[in-house]
Amino acid sequence: MSNQTAGLVCAHHHLYSTLARGMPAPRNESKSFIQILNNIWWRLDAALDEEMIYWSAKLGACEALMSGTTCIIDHHESPNAIEGSLSIIARACNEVGIRVNTCYGVTDRWDDAGELHSKVSPLSKMTDAAKRGLDECDQFLSSGGVGMVGVHAAFTCSDETLQAAAELANKHNVGVHIHVGEALDDIQAGARLEDLAKDDWLLVHTVHLDRQLKGRIVHNARSNMNNAVGYAKPSTKTNTVLLGTDGIGADMVEEARLAYARLREFDVTQNPDTVWSWLENGYELFPDAKNDRVTFNYDFADSPWHAAFTTNLQAFDVEIDGQKVLANCQPTRVDLDEVRAKSAEQALRLYERL
Ligand SMILES: [Zn+2]
Repeated sequence: MSNQTAGLVCAHHHLYSTLARGMPAPRNESKSFIQILNNIWWRLDAALDEEMIYWSAKLGACEALMSGTTCIIDHHESPNAIEGSLSIIARACNEVGIRVNTCYGVTDRWDDAGELHSKVSPLSKMTDAAKRGLDECDQFLSSGGVGMVGVHAAFTCSDETLQAAAELANKHNVGVHIHVGEALDDIQAGARLEDLAKDDWLLVHTVHLDRQLKGRIVHNARSNMNNAVGYAKPSTKTNTVLLGTDGIGADMVEEARLAYARLREFDVTQNPDTVWSWLENGYELFPDAKNDRVTFNYDFADSPWHAAFTTNLQAFDVEIDGQKVLANCQPTRVDLDEVRAKSAEQALRLYERL
């Protein structure tokens, strides 16, 4: 029993969403998953510019570190600031001292005339926007960036784009990071990805995946509840399961606690070891994080049976690669007050655009 753990891994994050908290309420009520995307997330991502992306990522990285999370697998979209966006995110995370794997989530939902479509025909041609997203992934990976090839989701992509993303991932020997069956609107994902998916893919959500696909599954308990898309039943899947936040912070102990409560609601015979094993599975993607050291304010932080029921665990020191990057709850390499102030400025700019 110890007050220390290895570094925690957030296996699905959207660092671009850090500034969304406090954004003006959408004019229209969102009654479905597609309406939530249309009214909130697709308005937000379209308004992002480079400055906003940088400070959003930097604040998100600080908050991750302050929760004992040393690794983030990020999924990015900024349709009006695509080129260079991934290196901006990588730079922000490097400055804070945290490990990151990022990707651009390609999509055909913006057609060549700049019109937004909530669903895209599998038979349509690849859009210019999707091509630019693939190029951004290619560019970032070719220049040595740590990442994957991102795809938003099958229901907003043509088959041509899905195929091209899979080929690009093969070229770089990385997986595809994609939302799969998050809601019923994406029910065809299983059929469309069956011949493409490989063991190194990250299949995010899989709430409405109707068949077995190759790849690791990322479970996002809070996000799924927040969007009322249903329960993913991760304990019933044979794939390796990891935990993500889908952009709602990166406090992985908190996420694991919530995932555990949701699991128990589904199956009262389960115990915390199941969910903490999903956290551990993150080391398959970030083996070095096993040597990161997180010190908590609690003597049994490494015990799932304690952590699952201790609601105020606080990380106060973090070492990554032997370097102290969090000391007394404060990031050591950046000035947290400055990051918060600059992020607040960028958030105001963002809200003005919305
Ligand atoms: Zn997501």
